[in-house]
Amino acid sequence: MASPGGRLEFRDVARGAALTEALAARVTSLGRAPVSVMHVCGSHEQAIAKFGLRAAFPPELRVIMGPGCPVCVTDVPEVDEAVALARQGVRVATYGDMLRVPGTAGSLADERGRGARIDVVYGAAQAVELARGGEPVVFFASGFETTAVATAAVLLADPPASFSVLSAHKYIPPVMEIVAEMPGSAIEGFLAAGHAATITGWGVFERFVERHRLPVVVAGFEPLDILAGLVRLVEVIASGEPRVDNAFPRCVTREGNPAAQAALWRVFELQGGRWRGIAHVPNGNLRLRDEFAAWDARRRYAIDVAALWDHAPAALVAQCQCGDIMAGIASPHDCALFGRDCTPDAPVGACMVSAEGTCKIWHQYGGHPDLREIRRRA
Ligand code: SF4
Repeated sequence: MASPGGRLEFRDVARGAALTEALAARVTSLGRAPVSVMHVCGSHEQAIAKFGLRAAFPPELRVIMGPGCPVCVTDVPEVDEAVALARQGVRVATYGDMLRVPGTAGSLADERGRGARIDVVYGAAQAVELARGGEPVVFFASGFETTAVATAAVLLADPPASFSVLSAHKYIPPVMEIVAEMPGSAIEGFLAAGHAATITGWGVFERFVERHRLPVVVAGFEPLDILAGLVRLVEVIASGEPRVDNAFPRCVTREGNPAAQAALWRVFELQGGRWRGIAHVPNGNLRLRDEFAAWDARRRYAIDVAALWDHAPAALVAQCQCGDIMAGIASPHDCALFGRDCTPDAPVGACMVSAEGTCKIWHQYGGHPDLREIRRRA
C-alpha cells in the first residue's frame, strides 16, 4: 500500500523513527539489560537484515533468531530418505533450497550431478503436474504450517496415483516450548510469524503463554510491522502480565483460517521427531494420516537409507553450529567457518543454504546485518 508521498506505507521513514524512539523508551523504562526476545521466522530475519533494523534497535535489546528456517531444521535422516529415493531411481521434486541441504552422504544436488532425476518446483501443485505424465514423482515437502496447507490442498484434490509425498513438514508451536524450556534460556518473549498465524490464528499461542508465562506478539514482515511488534512485545514484558497480542490485525485473527486448518488437519497429524541440530520435538513433525497412505512415499517405497550411513560426516560438517544458532544460543560469528570455509557458494551447513537461514542472511547483508557494526568497521 503506497502513501500519498509515493512511499510504501509500511516503510514510512517518519513512522519508523517514531517507533524506534518508542522502542528505545520502552526498553529503557525496564531499567535492565539485556532484554532478550526471539523471533521464530526466517522472513523476519530477512526483513531485519534487509532494512538494517538492528541499527534501529536499542543496544539493550537483543533480537535473536530462533528455529524459523524450515529448510535448516529438516533433519539429516529426512534428507537421507530423499537422497536414497533418488539413488533408487525415483524421480524427486522439491523446493530449490532443499537441493543443497547436506544429508549423511551428500545432498540432492550431488545426486543430480550423478544423473538422478531431481526437479525443482515452486510448490506441491507443480509436482502434481509432473506426475500427471505417468512417471512416479515423489514430492519432498518441507516447510511450516503455511506450505503444509498447500501440500494438504493437492492431496485433497485427488492427485494421480503416480504422485506421492515425502513429508518433512514441521509445526512451529511445539518447538517454541523446547526453546522456552532450554536450561539457562534468557528469552523474555517471542515475536511470532504473521503468515503462519494467518492460518492458525493467534489463539494457538494462548496455551503456550499460560504454560510458560512468556508473552507472544504476532507481527508482519514490513519494517514498521516488526518495529511495532517489538514495541508491543516490550510493553507486554513490562506489564508483567504475559499474553498473546496481535500486531498484524490486517491479516491475523484469533481464529485464523478455518478452511485452511481443516485441510491441514484432515491430511496431516502430529508426530514427534528431530529438528536438525536442535532436539527431538514432541509433536513437531507433520506426517500423513493413514487415510492418505496411498500418497505417502514412506509407505509406498522401501527407502533404503542404511547404505548412506557408511559415510562419516565430513570434518567441516562436524564443526557446523547451525543447531546452536537456531536455538538462539550462538550467532553465525561464533562459527569459525562463517564466511571462510562456509559461504553461500560452498555451504557446509543448512543455515548457509536456505534463503531463510541465519548464516546465509548475515552473509548476504555484509557479514553482519547491523549498520552500527558496519559503520564501526568503516
Ligand atoms: Fe554451519 Fe556454515 Fe553457519 Fe557455520 S557458517 S554454523 S558451518 S551453516
